[in-house]
Amino acid sequence: MRPRRDDGDLPPELPGKCNSRKRADGPPTRCRMTAGHGTTHLGHGQCSRHGGSTQTGRAIAAKELVADVARRFGAPREIDPLLALQEEVSRTAGLIDLIEGEVNATVGPDGRPMLVETINGREGTRTTPSPLLDLHHRERRHFVAAARAALDGGVVTERDRWIADYQHRVLGLIAGIIRGLGLDPDAPEVVAVVSRCLGEFAATTSGRSELLAVPADDGDGVSW
Ligand SMILES: [Zn+2]
Repeated sequence: MRPRRDDGDLPPELPGKCNSRKRADGPPTRCRMTAGHGTTHLGHGQCSRHGGSTQTGRAIAAKELVADVARRFGAPREIDPLLALQEEVSRTAGLIDLIEGEVNATVGPDGRPMLVETINGREGTRTTPSPLLDLHHRERRHFVAAARAALDGGVVTERDRWIADYQHRVLGLIAGIIRGLGLDPDAPEVVAVVSRCLGEFAATTSGRSELLAVPADDGDGVSW
């Protein structure tokens, strides 16, 4: 909700309401219609009687929607700092997608995305970038900062460690199965079969092949 001048005289803004100041004789008051009533953005922004359907009104509502989503994702919980950074990168990428969707959905009379906003003030008419573009720009900067922090913090290192651990466990499992069958994991015919099977598995799991790319020597004495 946006601070307005002379709000001290007005009743408080209520969540989910239009909250526009009403021009009326008598004490100052606010519109208590549902936010976005009569517009395409029910639930956010001003109602249709208070500018909700204008270009500016639609942009404000879209910005509120994005801010609302961001706020709801901000619920606190315990999390590993590295994981938090990784999530922050993913979340910011999602938020940027959302903002881009809103930019494309917020169109002017010519049906094109509204990239600038015309503001009529006492000093005349001027154009500024749409509030959504401004938000988009800020989130992209935040995305770069979060991604850089995640890299600096060792998210990639952590991922490599996880992959190595996964490899070690799977290869240990296979060696256990071979020994359980009464075979020697180092016997040439066993090495040949296991190597071929792992190669086939890696070939059919494209992007995840690194999970089972057999290390030259993982130190467990088994020579796959
Ligand atoms: Zn209203």
